Amino acid sequence: MPSSVHDVLIIGSGAAGLSLALRIADHARVAVLSKTALTETNTLYAQGGISAVLDADDTIESHIQDTLNAGAGLCDPDIVRLVVSQGKECIDWLLERGVPFTAADAENGGHHLHLTREGGHTHRRVVHAADATGRAVEISLAQHVRNHPNIDLFEYHNAIDLITEKKVGRDGNRVLGAYVLDTHDNKVKTLRARVVVLATGGASKVYLYTSNPDIATGDGIAMAWRAGACIANMEFIQFHPTCLYHPHARSFLISEAVRGEGGKLVLPDGSPFMHRFDSREELAPRDIVARAIDHEMKRLGVDCVYLDISHKPSDFIKSHFPTIYARCLELNIDITSQAIPVVPAAHYTCGGVQTDRHARTDVPGLYAVGETACTGLHGANRMASNSLLECLAFAKLAAEDIIRALPEIPPPPDLPEWDESQVTDSDEEVVVAHNWDEIRRFMWDYVGIVRTNKRLQRALRRVELLKQEIAEYYGNFRVTSDLLELRNLVIVAELIIRSALVRKESRGLHFTLDYPRTNDDEPPRNTVICP
Ligand SMILES: Cc1cc2nc3c(=O)[nH]c(=O)nc-3n(C[C@H](O)[C@H](O)[C@H](O)COP(=O)(O)OP(=O)(O)OC[C@H]3O[C@@H](n4cnc5c(N)ncnc54)[C@H](O)[C@@H]3O)c2cc1C
Repeated sequence: MPSSVHDVLIIGSGAAGLSLALRIADHARVAVLSKTALTETNTLYAQGGISAVLDADDTIESHIQDTLNAGAGLCDPDIVRLVVSQGKECIDWLLERGVPFTAADAENGGHHLHLTREGGHTHRRVVHAADATGRAVEISLAQHVRNHPNIDLFEYHNAIDLITEKKVGRDGNRVLGAYVLDTHDNKVKTLRARVVVLATGGASKVYLYTSNPDIATGDGIAMAWRAGACIANMEFIQFHPTCLYHPHARSFLISEAVRGEGGKLVLPDGSPFMHRFDSREELAPRDIVARAIDHEMKRLGVDCVYLDISHKPSDFIKSHFPTIYARCLELNIDITSQAIPVVPAAHYTCGGVQTDRHARTDVPGLYAVGETACTGLHGANRMASNSLLECLAFAKLAAEDIIRALPEIPPPPDLPEWDESQVTDSDEEVVVAHNWDEIRRFMWDYVGIVRTNKRLQRALRRVELLKQEIAEYYGNFRVTSDLLELRNLVIVAELIIRSALVRKESRGLHFTLDYPRTNDDEPPRNTVICP
């Protein structure tokens, strides 16, 4: 396979990757990779919106304070200020690119946009495109990227590993490119670049139940780790309390609004339980509701609980929740007369590749933006709608830094091609499928919403075994996308478990029965694990 050279190689085509590509492409030759179709990203499924201070009554200080409150003492205040201050510019930038945000009835603070309010925000500051904001952003940006003469798109290209100076036997550890599996013909290409950016999204597929699409296997985190970058705060996984539980419907969220409009959470026998956990009952914060459901499922050994809104008039349900009504009906659940089976689901990875205020990682020439990065914005718990803002703001900051740095960076040298001489086609694909299931199941059971030292240790022992098995398999057989993702999932699992074991307190999204209280005796600390 011939190798290709670009100034900037961006791995990932969500909000972070596409906005970065567009901000750089007038200055440099850019390659954008996506593992499957260009728009099949977490971004595409984002519903609520993007937070930004636009309302005349709102202030930057208030957005900062709300973010710090949600982050439970672990946000980096300088980064929070940096990101929040970019909100208006980022929204204007998207508007210039034609993103069809929902308009308000009247102008407010120089804007015509309708703003909603979400959990944790003390003001109306969530810009949205009806209830499909991510789709509007992704589709608009994808159109611009496809039409830009300086951007080469590599769809259905799965990045296997970063190539660094160290890996090819040179001095230093600068990133020089990546090995990439072209899944059209299963051949491995060598892509060389002066700068590489990870924009690979989150890692929630490491859990059995997740609101994320299949691409969210934490590849960027695992690749950065193997290349020598430090990874931070992986214990903070956000779980959404109510994902539809049905064998034929993966990843379908039942919006918080159903509880907001009077939906009751009940056990399989129909009895309510939230009153036993919080006086706000169904309207308690996300993490409390998720923990209560998890507790009841584990206590009773049941597969799901139920969310019942059927006591409301049928017309009200159909007009307020048309999408949920239609999706459930497709699965033979009529929510006007039946309760909806739900489980909590892994939703957002707060930790990731540790980056600085320019999105640089510890590996020279390697940047990380979006959900794959740990920038310091979210701390121990992400506030709703801050993640798309983070993607856009750090794409801008990274672009500025990369454009400044590029003239000083020499073109990458020739690199060794991928060597397949020692491997054969697998005759035991069942091993890969089995290990996928096993990881996701024990991560759910032992490293989920409520943790204990004993469960974490148990999970770590299984990870050690699986790591050996997967390494052996990887060494002997030709790579496939399933194997590559599995190899990354096991690293992500290990990083989550090891980070959770380090934190001897409960804080934000990390809750352990062994240390149920937040340790306020010492200053809060990030969990940073370096290779
Ligand atoms: C159901 C749902 C609702 C949400 N709602 C909101 C919301 O309202 N507001 C908000 O702010 N956030 C929301 N979020 C979170 C937000 O959508 C994500 O955090 C954000 O979209 C992440 O963007 P990203 O660009 O970092 O990654 P993604 O959009 O996930 O893109 C990742 C890209 O990386 C590529 N990739 C991954 N691995 C590889 C590899 N090995 N090789 C090549 N390419 C690779 C993928 O193909 C993809 O193109 C929601 C998330 C979900 C799942």
